[in-house]
Amino acid sequence: MGHLAVVTGGTRGIGRAICEALKDDGFTVVASYAGNEEKARVFTDETGIPAYRFDVSDHEATLAACDGIAEEVGPIDVVVNNAGITRDGTLLKMSYEEWDEVMRTNLGGCFNMAKACFPGMKDRKWGRIINIGSINGQAGQYGQVNYAAAKSGIHGFTKALAQEGARYGITVNAIAPGYIDTEMVAAVPEAVLEKIVAKIPVGRLGQASEIARGVAFLASEQGGFVTGSTLSINGGQHMY
Ligand code: NDP
Repeated sequence: MGHLAVVTGGTRGIGRAICEALKDDGFTVVASYAGNEEKARVFTDETGIPAYRFDVSDHEATLAACDGIAEEVGPIDVVVNNAGITRDGTLLKMSYEEWDEVMRTNLGGCFNMAKACFPGMKDRKWGRIINIGSINGQAGQYGQVNYAAAKSGIHGFTKALAQEGARYGITVNAIAPGYIDTEMVAAVPEAVLEKIVAKIPVGRLGQASEIARGVAFLASEQGGFVTGSTLSINGGQHMY
């Protein structure tokens, strides 16, 4: 059995592709999800990967869920912080709740998972933490002060935790996807999406599997010399 990897928000979209790629590479994989039971059931039926329901924005629930996974499946060696939400709107229209929910889920979730899993990785002298950021955390995006701030925070969190983990054999990296063909992007109005695609040098949306291969590399033994890095997988969009 390979190392155990937990992928938050692993039951659909990019997370599902990450689960599949890690399984293909020999990892034992567990996915988490927030509440979409139907997607979770289809995911487990089709992949054979178990899915655990817990809210990554809830500190105590995340600690308890990771303890449960460790007891039932084994020690967690790889964490992929992929769970993320959007609550878009300009600052003038954004409520405090929309700000707070995105910060607690997208950034707080990374802290909560790291608090749960870093100590065991430290004891075992091996670990991989891979955080899914966003090009919008690198460049900002109109109507997304909450999301851009949380994703930008992920990039800082990654570099700080990488410094703490290095002496224990724990690497911490981020991937900053560009626009990927998932339900999250399907929610973007068509006219806005056309303008976005026009700005992507390769001229298309990315595929979830293209993010997943990057994660699989960072999780691998061969990825052990990469830490504190952000890999931009976005069709070249970060250059503009
Ligand atoms: P989806 O909306 O398709 O899936 C989100 C997943 O996260 C679902 O499994 C969902 O569970 C889970 N989730 C949401 N909130 C929580 C929570 N509080 N606790 C636990 N799980 C939660 O997302 P994508 O695949 O599009 O995106 C995945 C990641 O990639 C996100 O972090 C996103 O910000 C980032 N990203 C995506 C881009 C894109 O173009 N799609 C571009 C750049 C970054 P459930 O199904 O139960 O709701």
